[in-house]
Amino acid sequence: MTLPDPTLRLRVDTGALADNWRSLDRLSGNARAGAAVKADAYGLGMATTAPVLRAAGCQDFFVAHWSEALAACAHVPSSMVSVLHGPMSSADAVFARELGVKPVINSLVQATHWIEVGGGLCDLMVDTGINRLGVPMSDLADPLLAKLSIDVLLSHLASADEDSPMNAVQQERWSAARKQMAHRRASLANSAGITLGSAYHGDLTRPGIALYGGVPCAALNGVIRQVAYPEAAILQVRDLRPGDHVGYNATFTATSHMRIGVLSIGYADGYLRAWSGKGVMHNGYRHLPVLGRVSMDMTVIDLTAAPDLREGDWLEVCYDLPDAAAKSGLSQYELLTGLGRRFQR
Ligand SMILES: *Cc1c(COP(=O)(O)O)cnc(C)c1O
Repeated sequence: MTLPDPTLRLRVDTGALADNWRSLDRLSGNARAGAAVKADAYGLGMATTAPVLRAAGCQDFFVAHWSEALAACAHVPSSMVSVLHGPMSSADAVFARELGVKPVINSLVQATHWIEVGGGLCDLMVDTGINRLGVPMSDLADPLLAKLSIDVLLSHLASADEDSPMNAVQQERWSAARKQMAHRRASLANSAGITLGSAYHGDLTRPGIALYGGVPCAALNGVIRQVAYPEAAILQVRDLRPGDHVGYNATFTATSHMRIGVLSIGYADGYLRAWSGKGVMHNGYRHLPVLGRVSMDMTVIDLTAAPDLREGDWLEVCYDLPDAAAKSGLSQYELLTGLGRRFQR
């Protein structure tokens, strides 16, 4: 059996993805850019993105879960993969050794799990103020940590996308940690952190969102290209008379004769109800607004400006991330990672 043609697809501009990585690598100065590819490369697909990033020159790939490590290793050498959540048990640590990926050690307990199974090269996350994962500065002198072979000594900024005094505080703590712990390479900056200057670069940067078209801070305006283009097909075209309503709760009412299109995309696909009455679809140069409520599997649009469109025709969802975030009230991160499984990637 062959699967019928899809009515929902996510086009990934791999040229733009490679360009974004090269731009971020250049902006990282003497440091090299790695790539955060957790959450299936922010929803764009590991299989689509990892080989492109690797070919562009990326040599360090960060995932969150152990399950994601397996997916990454299908596309890049396992020695280039780091697992941010670290080993929660000795079983996780054994898995890391068998697969050949690096665990990111986030606590003395995680260090124990890693050392007990024989250890090897790992990364160490130091908490410098975000209070999420990471060894506290006060634990750095623990003799247990001296037993680790640390490749990347990393920390993570809480407010890199803002002009916050917290950035300098975290940078100073990270610099102090670098002096205290033996390590091969040091890393602090995410996408926005790269723009804070060379003091934040160390040896390796870890962009995520900006690789995929997100613009987390003004300094990246005009540098980053859109990568993800959601596209949906028209399932049905219909004509409305004045007074006819559209969708759940009849929140749109036609004031004249008009043509509408029912698209195969809904909130189950991550096209959330925040877009009700706000979203826009493109067909070439034509902009077609969303009418009424977005429902689970369908969204209705106004075809007045495109009366030639028919069932099966494709429309591009307006999804330029900074713009889409401003319009929908969702974050650029949520806009990408929320894109569902029904998109053909
Ligand atoms: C997700 C993540 C990144 C990437 O952050 P962006 O803001 O998407 O660039 C970098 N480092 C760590 C530890 C992360 O969890």
